[in-house]
Amino acid sequence: MKQFDIITIFPGLFNSFLKESLIARALKKRIIKINIHNLRDWTSDRHKTVDDRPFGGGLGMTLKIEPIFKAVQDVKKKRGKYKVVLFSPRGKKFTQQRAHQFSRSDQLIFICGRYEGVDERVAKHIADVELSIGDYVLMGGELPAMVVIETVARLVPGVLGKPQLLKERVTKTKGFIEYPQYTRPKVFSPKKEVTWKVPNVLLSGDHKKIDEWRAKHGKTIEK
Ligand code: SAH
Repeated sequence: MKQFDIITIFPGLFNSFLKESLIARALKKRIIKINIHNLRDWTSDRHKTVDDRPFGGGLGMTLKIEPIFKAVQDVKKKRGKYKVVLFSPRGKKFTQQRAHQFSRSDQLIFICGRYEGVDERVAKHIADVELSIGDYVLMGGELPAMVVIETVARLVPGVLGKPQLLKERVTKTKGFIEYPQYTRPKVFSPKKEVTWKVPNVLLSGDHKKIDEWRAKHGKTIEK
């Protein structure tokens, strides 16, 4: 089974994520396991302090290394291949390729930053990889964790309803193709004299032509 362990100071953010759609189904069927951990559980002071002021000055707070170190130690499984991922806008860009690589691990441990970020020693000594989901700055690593879980989980056999769904768009060479799709009605009319039509080729039944159209209008996502 594939296991995800998320270390966060806002565990509540994951409530609905775990309860809806294919993720909920995969959890119920025990195809994947997702554990949400509150970083504050690994603090020892009365105020459950997880952050402190950055050395050198500056506004904002930085997540401390000690609770993160303890949390990772505790959630790490004794057996199997695991990867520790720290989310950071300065990290390597998350790609489909990386998702395939992650899908070969048994356990993924995600460290979600908040505030102004995380003590750099976490990136240096605790995380196996620093990951960014794009060149923009979010408020925390929780959405990135959900992004990576969705991308990796759909590669796990049984998570998508039909196994063929995973194979359907795979191209012979380097990845799979995402193309535009249409469904009924064939013609949609938002107002009189305006018609938005489905491309004729898709209604033709000519599968060679349809494949060509899809290749031309699609985008190949490298694997
Ligand atoms: N000044 C900080 C930004 C902190 S944003 C810095 O330069 O690192 C707070 C947290 O949100 C980060 O620690 C990280 O965990 C998460 N985060 C923000 N943008 C992200 C992105 N594009 N990809 C992944 N994680 C991101």
